[in-house]
Amino acid sequence: MSSEYDPLYLYIHGEWISAGSRDTATVVNPSTGNVLGHVPHATQEDLALALRASERAFRVWRDTPPYERARILKKAAELIRERSAHIERLLTMEQGKVLSESRYEVASAADYFEWFAEEGKRTYGRVVPSRRPEVQQLVKRQPIGPVAAFTPWNFPAITPSRKLSAALAAGCSVIIKPGEECPATTLAIARCLHDAGLPAGVLQVVFGVPDAISSFLIASPIIRKVTFTGSVPVGRLLAARAAEGVKPISLELGGHGPVLVFGDADVDEAARLGAANRFRGTGQICISSTRFIVQRSIYERFADSFVAAARALKVGDGLTPGMQVGPLSNPRQLAKIEAMVADAVQHGAKVLAGGKRIEGAGYFYEPTVLADVPMSARVMQEEPFGPIAILLPFDDVDDALAEANRLPYGLSAYLFTHDARTAIRVSDGLEAGMIGINHFSMIVSELPFGGMKESGYGSEGGTEGIEHYLTTKFISQV
Ligand code: NAD
Repeated sequence: MSSEYDPLYLYIHGEWISAGSRDTATVVNPSTGNVLGHVPHATQEDLALALRASERAFRVWRDTPPYERARILKKAAELIRERSAHIERLLTMEQGKVLSESRYEVASAADYFEWFAEEGKRTYGRVVPSRRPEVQQLVKRQPIGPVAAFTPWNFPAITPSRKLSAALAAGCSVIIKPGEECPATTLAIARCLHDAGLPAGVLQVVFGVPDAISSFLIASPIIRKVTFTGSVPVGRLLAARAAEGVKPISLELGGHGPVLVFGDADVDEAARLGAANRFRGTGQICISSTRFIVQRSIYERFADSFVAAARALKVGDGLTPGMQVGPLSNPRQLAKIEAMVADAVQHGAKVLAGGKRIEGAGYFYEPTVLADVPMSARVMQEEPFGPIAILLPFDDVDDALAEANRLPYGLSAYLFTHDARTAIRVSDGLEAGMIGINHFSMIVSELPFGGMKESGYGSEGGTEGIEHYLTTKFISQV
């Protein structure tokens, strides 16, 4: 076990609880296969305790003035920044992404707390003029209640922070179940909130068998709001569970991001940025670009540049300086990517770069570029949550748009063009919640983050992000 890695706990009612006699799950470094630690699984008693604490703490936190809540959240942001060198290493050790990406992620997590700390001061209601002079009509925005949040393993700092910052700023208490594969990063962020003075019970962190935890928490009448980031099948399941208790749910469920590259674009720049974006996080990013739909006149040149950029990437342990792509985060992901590429090849796809597992320790896979992939291949239908890029040419704008919108996903989409009319027409026509024109890096705390269609509903981030944690109350007084 690594001495650099933090001990793992449950965090319930302000206490850090070790495994004791509880079940545990092993946490592994995906770059080396070495065991990092053992994460405790919450028992039903733990969950019941967390629910009671969450209910009590909600009353305290709801009545804490927004300025005081903001002070604690800003202090937490400051602590995340102070401790970033340590948190970044935890993140790379347990998730695999290279250190520069972990650095960006932890900095961004701090930004969310800082930004929502301020936004919590602006949950304004309104006074509506009455039809009768003696009546006063108030519309109030109030915190919705205790929240159950479920986050995955691919962004263990940003995704929990995006949910926690908005919910806590709104005045809600939260029980969060982060991904069991990357527990230390989220616990380190919880520790910053604890040390910043967050009252006991306002935040609780639990781990366990995901389905057992989510069914227990969502069924509890104490929980008033659910938020989940992960895959479409699990999102569908949790939405059905939330519907049983008529509880609102926000869902962020992945995508299959199209990139439309037009003949007038800077081809080499689009290819260079595209390859960097596609292989960032080893492709395990929901808003990643996956299908590069390129105008035929520039297709060959784009493919050559893209393949050269993919081949030049340095793949290795994220803690080693100079590495640009880490391993897949777990053996499930590796097996899935190997199977997807084999399936594509079997259906007739051409491998322009990569296409193989990298032998040795860890779950490394070569940055892979596929062309001539038939529609019958799985990778053309399912989210390739790994280092696979698909290139396909187009002749007609409407055909390109139809391909971009073909799948049930609608999270992110991108286009490269210098023609303003094309930019407007295509961005209006794309069925996606987030659209980048001539660049990819657009996700920050002050902007809405979310999708449409089966990619989910309920933007997180930006002024929209706090809405889901508020409820509307109308008061009429004579
Ligand atoms: P998964 O769908 O089982 O798990 C995804 C996340 O959901 C994990 O953190 C898991 O702990 C959680 N989860 C699973 N079942 C749950 C339940 N019943 N209740 C509450 N939480 C639950 O599978 P996976 O193997 O981790 O990933 C499979 C695919 O999911 C990936 O290939 C990718 O397509 C997608 N995914 C998307 C995102 C995203 O950011 N949208 C993140 C992770 C995975």
